[in-house]
Amino acid sequence: MAIRKKIIAANWKMNMTSSEAASFMEDLELELKNFDGAEVVIVPPFTALPKLSEILGEIPGVSLGAQNMWHEASGAFTGEVSAGMLREFFTRYVVLGHSERRTIFGETDELINKKVKTALAASLRPIVCVGETLAERDANQHHEVLARQLKGSLAGLDADQMLDTVIAYEPVWAIGTGRTATPEQAQEAHAFIRQTLAEMFDATTASKVRIQYGGSVKPDNAKELLHQSDIDGALVGGASLEPRSFAKIVKAAARG
Ligand code: PEP
Repeated sequence: MAIRKKIIAANWKMNMTSSEAASFMEDLELELKNFDGAEVVIVPPFTALPKLSEILGEIPGVSLGAQNMWHEASGAFTGEVSAGMLREFFTRYVVLGHSERRTIFGETDELINKKVKTALAASLRPIVCVGETLAERDANQHHEVLARQLKGSLAGLDADQMLDTVIAYEPVWAIGTGRTATPEQAQEAHAFIRQTLAEMFDATTASKVRIQYGGSVKPDNAKELLHQSDIDGALVGGASLEPRSFAKIVKAAARG
């Protein structure tokens, strides 16, 4: 069975100034001293990337991610940033297709697919978010929705590119609501995602891809979720804004 190192990402959304981010990292570094049981990714707003790129270079096992990007290299795209601009600050990951981008900003699988391809071409690793709404879960349509989002946003990738990509399963009804998927519901969805990746690519590739769970992950529910066989990490929103609570989630990823 493929060994997949757990990956825990802090999605700060539109929170944290540069100086708040720097002080967060001082505290997190103390909390995680000598811990290497998981890969940690900090995903701040764009404005905190320069400051964090200076600090994170010195902290082993912690890397930088961005919350979004545009798929063109440059030009008349007011308000957007390119993959090259993110790479300038040693950004390693980029979250694409977050449900807030899909619902508030109208992003489609087709657009997300363009961004995924551009990110990979620039050596940025995409964290591609998929997940069903409450109405879709209640109508038992979550498999259909997940398959559509995976096939649309990952279209045209080869197996090597898939291995550089992380999937985040984020049921929309669990994001920022305090309502978490049960470990069984999450494991079932993750197994379905892995099976769909096996059909789209091959079984070996699918067994190596890391699939994070996201949706109201907190210190008190992290361990049970992170110990499900197909859950390889977490994408954490609210609970990632406080260093001690985020560190507890990171440590919950340790084996045993
Ligand atoms: C998220 O923003 O990706 C998220 C999962 O948020 P929260 O942990 O607050 O539900």
